[in-house]
Amino acid sequence: MKKAIEYIDIHGHINFPEYDADREEVIKRAAEAGVGIISVGTDIESSSKAIELAETHENMWAVVGVHPTEISNATAREGNRSEKAAEEMSYFQELRRLAIHPKVVAIGECGLDYFHTNEADIPAQVEAFEKHISIANEAKKPLMLHVRNGKKKGDSNLTGGDAYKDALAILKKSSQVPFNFHFFAGSVENMKEIFVQGGTVSFTGVLTFTHNYDELIKQAPIDKIMSETDCPYVSPVPHRGKRNEPAFVIEVVKAIARIRGEDEEKVRMVLLEDARGFFNIR
Ligand SMILES: [Zn+2]
Repeated sequence: MKKAIEYIDIHGHINFPEYDADREEVIKRAAEAGVGIISVGTDIESSSKAIELAETHENMWAVVGVHPTEISNATAREGNRSEKAAEEMSYFQELRRLAIHPKVVAIGECGLDYFHTNEADIPAQVEAFEKHISIANEAKKPLMLHVRNGKKKGDSNLTGGDAYKDALAILKKSSQVPFNFHFFAGSVENMKEIFVQGGTVSFTGVLTFTHNYDELIKQAPIDKIMSETDCPYVSPVPHRGKRNEPAFVIEVVKAIARIRGEDEEKVRMVLLEDARGFFNIR
């Protein structure tokens, strides 16, 4: 008998090669655990793969986009400028085409990464971010954001310093759709600004092995947070050090309930309903 969806892993990468050997087994384990899977693209190839998986599995959905650090890599490559411009043009045309697929539930992951980036790459990230926002506006689908501050908080050698503040300013100017900051790792102040602007944040299995996020989890209204694995990365306890997978999102939901001192079943139900609403999954 098919198990109803009780949890949604709103951000993971089961579309990545790390799962090529046993992907169907991993998906089956999630289905048996009642976990719905949203696979997130980081370039055109992985975005297409996410759609392919969503087309063939009832409990799966896709997010399509180009990760900010992929943009930097692309612009850092040597080459003819006009060639590069043409390549980028087709990139976004392709993304625009993928965005309208009925199982694509958001656009991303896109945004600003000041951590893995040289200052020179930031204008290209901003431009790409704005293109993703316009695609999301057109498709009327929410944004899945990847935003990271610089190595030191408020790093002054990087544009704006605070990537969250910069991302919020860009969203305020351009976005007409809901947005979620995935793997939120900013300050309580950043988080409150996100909520004021109508956004949400999601958390991973790191909650199970560090207290760094406890204050955020406690201060956020429950209807503003969502659960994710970001698999294959950051496996929660008791799977730490091994490849992560969507079924482990259950540990993330448990950790959120524990940190907040709330009933696990209540937290599970609220997170499920909020994720369904945010991504329009019915
Ligand atoms: Zn990710």
